[in-house]
Amino acid sequence: MRLSESDRLFRDTLREFLEREVAPDLPEADHEPVSKEQAVAYQRDLGDLGVGPGAGEDASFEDPVTYAVTIEEIARVWPSLVMIITMGFPFPAALVPYAGDRTREALGDRSRAGELVGCLAVTEPAGGSDTTSPATTAERDGDEYVIDGEKTWVSNATIADVALVLATDTDTGARDFFLVDAETTSLESRELDKLGWKGSPTGQLFLDECRIPVENRLLNAVGRMASEGGTNVLENPIFRTQDPQNAMFAYMRTGMASMAVGIMQASFEAALDYTTERTVGGDAIAGKQLVQDHLYEMKAGIETARLLTHHAATHVAEGHADARLLSSLAKGYACETAVDVASRAVQVHGANGLSTDYPVERYLRDARTTTIPDGTTEIQKLIVGSELTGYPAY
Ligand SMILES: Cc1cc2nc3c(=O)[nH]c(=O)nc-3n(C[C@H](O)[C@H](O)[C@H](O)COP(=O)(O)OP(=O)(O)OC[C@H]3O[C@@H](n4cnc5c(N)ncnc54)[C@H](O)[C@@H]3O)c2cc1C
Repeated sequence: MRLSESDRLFRDTLREFLEREVAPDLPEADHEPVSKEQAVAYQRDLGDLGVGPGAGEDASFEDPVTYAVTIEEIARVWPSLVMIITMGFPFPAALVPYAGDRTREALGDRSRAGELVGCLAVTEPAGGSDTTSPATTAERDGDEYVIDGEKTWVSNATIADVALVLATDTDTGARDFFLVDAETTSLESRELDKLGWKGSPTGQLFLDECRIPVENRLLNAVGRMASEGGTNVLENPIFRTQDPQNAMFAYMRTGMASMAVGIMQASFEAALDYTTERTVGGDAIAGKQLVQDHLYEMKAGIETARLLTHHAATHVAEGHADARLLSSLAKGYACETAVDVASRAVQVHGANGLSTDYPVERYLRDARTTTIPDGTTEIQKLIVGSELTGYPAY
């Protein structure tokens, strides 16, 4: 699938920036989660290129194909950075101007400056993969909602100014998203350590009687956004043809598939370079048939996953009936393939593949991490099965 001229130009500019400004820091930067200040600095730098919350209304994430290209490029250099800047659709920070007065007054200045960090809080300790009935509740009390509950494994939790929280409305029993800020509520968090995406903070969120204005309910904020002429990813047709959570996940899963493609691309480039440079007994290992078999499998995996991901992204862009199926297929397939591709990159590096002096051990850890967030591979299979047959198996 050929990229448009504008997507190609954009990708080249982004690649040049990432190689120059981000890649040299990685040996140090990838050891521990970034601080809020570092996250805001990355957000601001990428915002200057039109990427992410730092770009305000110019954010390039409204088109799912451009989004896929952007995510692949960033992940090719540093997957953690993808998580730092892409949490939530629409970005929780983008909703702040349309939230209740209290939230806007507390966060408005930093929102306008593109300096707010957001997170998307769906997963719960007891719910895990099953997000249909959140135990977190939103109880209406006059012109406020009172949010109570606990979330876990939330990216950006420990540095977020604002969280888009999935909760059950106690009046209707229906689930919806609510914008909860860390400035005017008692929102608290705790860091969780993990195998990959070392630079991306991940944590628990504790919501103990967090009082928010009723305007902070997602549908209310979006309604206000529409009436005030704000532009946002919610104008994408997918948000008109699917339930908000399914639409958001269809969008995000093409992003996670793109992240897997970016990791595969980096793994392949490292493997190709290494095998042509490394000689054993005087011969380049690139000339060995079984090494070429690894390169063949890697290349086939990348090309297939990228095509599938872009195919899914075009369906998301159209709000097509198959968007949910294809985005889950792409997420499941690309992330599992990335584990295989990154593992082959380690293998052709021999012992050096396990060394922290080479990047491929990180690619493998980062690839391995992709098969769990935004729904595990098993859950993607069940979504595809349900979309194909009409029989939901979970
Ligand atoms: C790095 C990272 C970042 C994350 N970021 C976020 C975030 O920003 N926001 C957020 O809300 N969440 C986030 N998550 C949470 C993630 O979405 C969940 O971890 C994921 O949905 C799985 O839930 P669980 O970990 O509780 O696993 P469980 O649901 O306990 O699953 C354990 C195993 O059982 C399988 N399983 C469960 N149910 C079924 C079923 N019905 N049929 C077949 N197999 C099943 C799973 O596939 C898995 O293999 C993140 C997770 C990670 C690791």
